[in-house]
Amino acid sequence: MSPPCFLRCDDVVEPGPGFDRAALLTERTGLPCVLSVIPLRADARLVDAVRELSRRTPAPLWVAQHGTDHRNRAPLGHNKDEFGDDADHLQRLAQGKNWLESHFADHFLNVYVPPWNRVTDKSRRLTRLAGFSEISTFALPSQAAPWDVTVEVQAQYRPPMLREAAELRALLTAYQGGGIMVHPVVMTDDEANLLADLLSDLPARRRGVSLPNS
Ligand SMILES: [Zn+2]
Repeated sequence: MSPPCFLRCDDVVEPGPGFDRAALLTERTGLPCVLSVIPLRADARLVDAVRELSRRTPAPLWVAQHGTDHRNRAPLGHNKDEFGDDADHLQRLAQGKNWLESHFADHFLNVYVPPWNRVTDKSRRLTRLAGFSEISTFALPSQAAPWDVTVEVQAQYRPPMLREAAELRALLTAYQGGGIMVHPVVMTDDEANLLADLLSDLPARRRGVSLPNS
């Protein structure tokens, strides 16, 4: 069975153009949306914005934790990683989780979205200790867990994917389900509209799949 189809909008921290583009994608495509929010950088005004969007759209709308402060703590020359050598990771994770749970209530999804899709034994252990039930990351469709993403649309891929709509269309035509990861904060409005057009063309059988509860 194909994994469910949804949007994962990363790096959301406040109302504004980035949030508006995430809202546009959700409203125009009707796809379920996971807003992955950086809790220790989030603005409390985001709470009302999410509540208001959820009133406007029938699409399921969730908020998941995206790192803690999204700061790279890896030693120089290593892959980016929030969980470096300092010792306060669990405290930051808990602080972020508490903030999201208490502010977003029913919209909170107990899934951890790692910055840079960086998953290690350490991050698995820490997020389990902090009480997260799953980690969302990048996976091939055949391996995708319910919250994994299988298509990435972001700034560095603009030349092949967004400037060349045909290539992105081909990618989505071959798309077998799973999440579509976007970074609405760094997209332009034109790119968000183009992506919404393309996603609206997704065959019906790949849309509207109900997602499991957290
Ligand atoms: Zn991020």
